Amino acid sequence: MTSTVETLQPVYRFFTASVARTERLSPSFLRVTLTGPDMADFGFAGDDQRFKLILPNGGESVGELLAAAGPDWYVRYCAMPEETRPHLRTYTARAFRPEVAELDVDVVLHGIAEDGTPDAHAGPAATWAASADPGSEIVLLGPDRPGTGRGWGVEWTPPVEADTLFLAGDETAVPAIAGILESLEPGPRVVAVLEVPEAGDFLPLHLPAGVDVRWLARGARPRGEQLGVAVRTALCELGIARSTPGVDPDDVDLTDGILWEVPEAGAHTRCYAWLAGEAGVVTKLRRHLVRDLGIPREGVAFMGYWREGSRG
Ligand SMILES: Cc1cc2nc3c(=O)[nH]c(=O)nc-3n(C[C@H](O)[C@H](O)[C@H](O)COP(=O)(O)OP(=O)(O)OC[C@H]3O[C@@H](n4cnc5c(N)ncnc54)[C@H](O)[C@@H]3O)c2cc1C
Repeated sequence: MTSTVETLQPVYRFFTASVARTERLSPSFLRVTLTGPDMADFGFAGDDQRFKLILPNGGESVGELLAAAGPDWYVRYCAMPEETRPHLRTYTARAFRPEVAELDVDVVLHGIAEDGTPDAHAGPAATWAASADPGSEIVLLGPDRPGTGRGWGVEWTPPVEADTLFLAGDETAVPAIAGILESLEPGPRVVAVLEVPEAGDFLPLHLPAGVDVRWLARGARPRGEQLGVAVRTALCELGIARSTPGVDPDDVDLTDGILWEVPEAGAHTRCYAWLAGEAGVVTKLRRHLVRDLGIPREGVAFMGYWREGSRG
């Protein structure tokens, strides 16, 4: 028998949208607003909800994929020649206005010069965003009905009893952290630490009272250096760190794998932490939290949002 919860789970499908407008939020962030009749049915869930952008890789690649739409689209996708199949890139649904069917995506313009020219390291997503003109078409993959939870690509699942919430990440995690913070109910102590390329990227957020957001400008320092220090400081201030170091039997070599370790929904911890960003940086944070500070893993979500030197 099918349970009620299962029947409410969304189906993932392709949405055809067009660019309504773009807005340069800061030196590193470009907001791309997508719209179109199809987008009225996009299943927005809020918080850190992720979805996929489907980006062309030569002439007809996206059209071919759409022609293969259906429950086994991914199998068909994988069967397409690698050199011509569309690029899939994961982004956060920063905001959605159902009344006008508009979805905001805040894209980090990595590898894009000030005049909008991509360099050799720029990827298809940043390149697409930098040249997105109103009216240009794009395809997304997302849920077909509103909802909340893992089925919708939401990882933010703090236990109801959590009285301390801690978030940290780099610029790619800013849209997710902003979405989470802006929807918080009053009550818990909340600290968020964000490392972004420069001070001009400290974005204005509409935060509930009492939320402590600490922006860090990376400048010329190595990625993650300041974040590591600020995370340690914040966790000590919050009294989350245990006095004795923990044991991390699963400390793994994450050089090649995907770093994605999130507690089961329904964990019972008073403190819940959420960390995302470049995989090497998050790996170091994971070791620091679990091994050095003895923070129980069941209360921490660690997510590698991208990996230095690898595509996709
Ligand atoms: C759940 C989730 C949510 C995400 N949400 C967002 C979001 O809302 N906004 C956002 O901008 N990103 C977000 N990201 C990260 C984004 O998916 C990656 O940055 C992605 O690799 C960008 O694709 P690309 O085609 O531009 O570059 P790719 O082709 O993937 O990579 C090209 C080169 O650029 C490097 N690179 C990739 N991203 C960056 C970066 N940010 N800074 C510097 N170098 C980089 C790669 O290591 C590679 O060398 C999210 C990722 C996940 C998993």
